[in-house]
Amino acid sequence: MAGIQLVGSMLASAHPRPCGLCGDVRRLSRAHVPPQVAGNAASVLRAPDVIDGGVRRAGRWSQGGMWVRGLCRDCNSLAGIAYDRAYADFAGQVARLTSPLARRLAVIPGEPPGVRFAPGLVARCVLFGMFAINPRLRILFPDLAADLRKETPAGAGPVRWPDQLLLRVGRSHPSLPREGVLSSGVWSMRVLTERVVHFSFGDIVFAPLVWSLVPAHSGSERDGLGPQITKRLGDASGWVHYGPDRTSVDLRSLTRTFPSMAHPLHVKMDDWVELLTRDGSDADAVMVFGRLP
Ligand SMILES: [Zn+2]
Repeated sequence: MAGIQLVGSMLASAHPRPCGLCGDVRRLSRAHVPPQVAGNAASVLRAPDVIDGGVRRAGRWSQGGMWVRGLCRDCNSLAGIAYDRAYADFAGQVARLTSPLARRLAVIPGEPPGVRFAPGLVARCVLFGMFAINPRLRILFPDLAADLRKETPAGAGPVRWPDQLLLRVGRSHPSLPREGVLSSGVWSMRVLTERVVHFSFGDIVFAPLVWSLVPAHSGSERDGLGPQITKRLGDASGWVHYGPDRTSVDLRSLTRTFPSMAHPLHVKMDDWVELLTRDGSDADAVMVFGRLP
């Protein structure tokens, strides 16, 4: 096995470490991202990433959905009780309304589907997942972590959203319906064709949706590296300010576009290079690959 480095296995380890949200050092429980009720269940395959000769690829596949040990039992069950159902409902509606048949019937292609949902609860479900997959988020944005943990009742706010953060949302790419990924700390750049970058604290790709938590001011355009690939996606950063009573907000009132995006890991790998973090390692970047049935 020389030259093969296990990377994603860290997020599967049962050794006690700080919960991604509350910081308590405990044996962490399996947080399914997205939640199991949204279809991320037994028949979804999961593989941690390995670095094999300098190339990141999926390791060994196993059944049971895409998960990480990123949250303590309390934080994990809080999300399960308060937010998972709202997420499953949102994802289910998007899937129905963006099916090939529904798209053929659409009057104005490219418009967001007329989904009515609970933006505050859905955003919280996604953010709990982001804090589970990237342990550094709690260190970088402690106020956000604390607010999400302490809301009473759950989802009631107020939540201090950091100016430096954007939560991006769109559709997963229709040509890649079975490819899922959870990733944290990805810094990559497309070097062929038109130059774009992907700087992300966390990505969740699971049909029919893609979510990215990205720096609001990456400076990549100023530095001549090109725009963020997530720039075209919808901005869901404000959704967290909707209370739990707002359960029927029209997606079309929140975003004018709802494009699809193929994750850099799922497109031609030759075009993309992974950038090393500042300390010269890529230890922060962790991925879990998924394969949907
Ligand atoms: Zn916790």
